[in-house]
Amino acid sequence: MFRHDSPDEAAFRAEVRTWLAANLPAALRGRTNRPPPAELMPWYRMLSRKGWIAPHWPKQHGGMGATLNQQIVMTEELAQVGAPQLPAQGLNHIGPILIEFGTAAQKARHLPPIIEGSVIWAQGYSEPGAGSDLASLATRATLEGDHFIVHGQKIWTTWGHHSDWMFALVRTAPQAQPRQAGISFLLLDLHSPGITIRPIKTIAGDDEFSEVFFDNVMVPAENLVGKLNDGWRIANALLGHERLGTSNPQFALMALERIKTMARASGVMADPTFQDRLAAASINVIALAALFSHAVELTNRQHGLGPDSSIIKIFGSELLQALDELLIEAAGSHAAAEQPIATDFGVVDVSTPFLQVRRATIYGGSSEIQRNIVARRVLNLPN
Ligand SMILES: Cc1cc2nc3c(=O)[nH]c(=O)nc-3n(C[C@H](O)[C@H](O)[C@H](O)COP(=O)(O)OP(=O)(O)OC[C@H]3O[C@@H](n4cnc5c(N)ncnc54)[C@H](O)[C@@H]3O)c2cc1C
Repeated sequence: MFRHDSPDEAAFRAEVRTWLAANLPAALRGRTNRPPPAELMPWYRMLSRKGWIAPHWPKQHGGMGATLNQQIVMTEELAQVGAPQLPAQGLNHIGPILIEFGTAAQKARHLPPIIEGSVIWAQGYSEPGAGSDLASLATRATLEGDHFIVHGQKIWTTWGHHSDWMFALVRTAPQAQPRQAGISFLLLDLHSPGITIRPIKTIAGDDEFSEVFFDNVMVPAENLVGKLNDGWRIANALLGHERLGTSNPQFALMALERIKTMARASGVMADPTFQDRLAAASINVIALAALFSHAVELTNRQHGLGPDSSIIKIFGSELLQALDELLIEAAGSHAAAEQPIATDFGVVDVSTPFLQVRRATIYGGSSEIQRNIVARRVLNLPN
């Protein structure tokens, strides 16, 4: 968008574009919700067989070992064709964490199934009493010989009811002070006895997440990632990956296309005031793409972003909400329709993305919490 492809990159772009055009099923294009696993995972496995499922992973772990520019080309081409959002917990969260902190045995066991798409992962951080204040989490893991006994509850677990494994934060030293010093990072097989999972419906009508109950579940001690009571450090490294991943400009680019289609159909595209707002929105999408590629470059170089990930999370999530508000405006009196709107320029779903994107300023840490992080750790303001 703001740079020119080298001849090699142009060739790669052409290859990606041709392959996506020929292989991405029509039913998965331009979806405003994430399709359920039965629809999405065959596509995931197709990308995997092509060798493109994990552009950002090193080749030795089954990734593509792509350069930054190749990663950006992939992002742009996936947006262009309206490709659906893939499950991120394996590819963007636990995968990179195991590459950095996992044992050789953990890597050998868990990385290949993520690449193949034969195992789905869930993130077990939040609890009913621990969201923004994550350090107050109470799910307990007690070490007894060669296994932990896990007891407690997680909530808002994306795709929990579709998942095979969960990476979870658990309390292993209840008396430790500060509270962060008593937390460990554990891998849990969700098919273990003693686990109950209940889906939760969102405002957009999909059951994207669930609550997960652990009733004295036995977990092998070898499933501990990093050292005992050192989970907080790993948790934060992972949140950096999560905040960056959720700010991928692919979704903003797709939202922009939706606005343009709707604005042409409703005629508002001819209105100079609307044109001004669309131009401002387009500039912000370009700014997000620039910020994202800068952040990806920093991550590639130093294996983590630190508090910068909060800045991109705020900008990316609030931009998505602003874009969907512009979409509502473009749709005018049609905006209240619950179903996608058929126009001369194509079908546009207005209400689903508007409702879906409410969540963007909450997951991965709310905007208020990100602003607190920026205030303390970037601007060094007093508490
Ligand atoms: C779509 C979606 C998917 C999710 N997926 C997962 C998942 O897979 N795994 C997982 O573990 N969690 C997941 N979450 C949970 C998410 O991480 C939490 O919702 C989030 O951290 C906020 O916690 P909370 O919901 O308990 O809200 P609270 O912490 O109760 O916050 C409520 C409100 O108070 C504000 N607030 C709280 N503390 C402060 C403060 N100190 N200063 C200023 N304002 C404050 C918050 O910004 C928010 O507006 C998901 C959430 C959503 C919406």
